Amino acid sequence: MTPVDLHCHSNVSDGLLPPREVVRLAASRGCKLLALTDHDDTRGLADAADEAAQLGVQFVSGVEVSTSWGKHTLHIVGLGFDPAHPAIVGGLTEVRSGRAERAQRMSDSLAAKAGVPDALAGAQKYADNPEILSRTHFARYLVEIGRAKDTKSVFKRFLVRGKPGYVEHEWARLHEAIDWIRAAGGVAVMAHPARYDMGHETMRVLLTEFKRLGGEGIEVVSGVHGAGDVGRFGRLAQEFGFLASSGTDYHATGEGARDPGCNPDLPIGCQPVWHRWRGDL
Ligand code: AMP
Ligand code: MN
Ligand code: MN
Ligand code: MN
Repeated sequence: MTPVDLHCHSNVSDGLLPPREVVRLAASRGCKLLALTDHDDTRGLADAADEAAQLGVQFVSGVEVSTSWGKHTLHIVGLGFDPAHPAIVGGLTEVRSGRAERAQRMSDSLAAKAGVPDALAGAQKYADNPEILSRTHFARYLVEIGRAKDTKSVFKRFLVRGKPGYVEHEWARLHEAIDWIRAAGGVAVMAHPARYDMGHETMRVLLTEFKRLGGEGIEVVSGVHGAGDVGRFGRLAQEFGFLASSGTDYHATGEGARDPGCNPDLPIGCQPVWHRWRGDL
């Protein structure tokens, strides 16, 4: 195991714990280098950094930006940037502003296609940050009203393309997210590449494009990658010359993936992105 976690969530987006508690949990599991990467919002970073300093955990600023690339939604993790830089502040404000209107359309779709009335109000109860209303909050509400046994099963029957509650949405353009992160001095890393619904050839086109646009790393180890995915993206990282990242994608204990803090080692031959901040790990 490697005591590094460069992808996790707090209640600033769709995690359940406040930023300080995410850091405490990661520290208790032996984490030495941590980034908090909430969706489209950096509001948790100050508390997380302060808590990490008190606990002797090295902290790296982070965010997970929602982007559109053709019909695909891609998540781009920014690491080690200045959260006060106007490029990132302005860009994220713009991405967040689209979420309220999207949530209304999701709610309308759930009413029309699944007979769930006023899911918007239901989801809002779970969103501690009203600017980040996400599918996870709708999923928690659908579990509450008994439409599925857990959030994982919600995502099989609702909220995904072709199912009730899914609506198309234009996020930031891929190149914009990379530009904001780089302008603010950070590294752009493609989150959980195995999660994108595309064939191998399209994935190669995407990796080529991501590199050309200034992307520097891809997640090889992720809480949502299986063992086969780790091997495949470890090889692709080396072939395309990407730094390799590693993160749990923790949201909540009991909602899937492992707790924040540590991750399985990268495959041999990968260059860890975190050597930028910690050469010894
Ligand atoms: P949004 O940004 O509103 O589209 O919400 C995306 C979030 O939904 C992701 O960050 C995950 O937390 C969650 N999610 C998406 N797909 C799944 C899935 N198949 N199983 C569990 N959670 C998912
Ligand atoms: Mn999420
Ligand atoms: Mn993601
Ligand atoms: Mn995530």
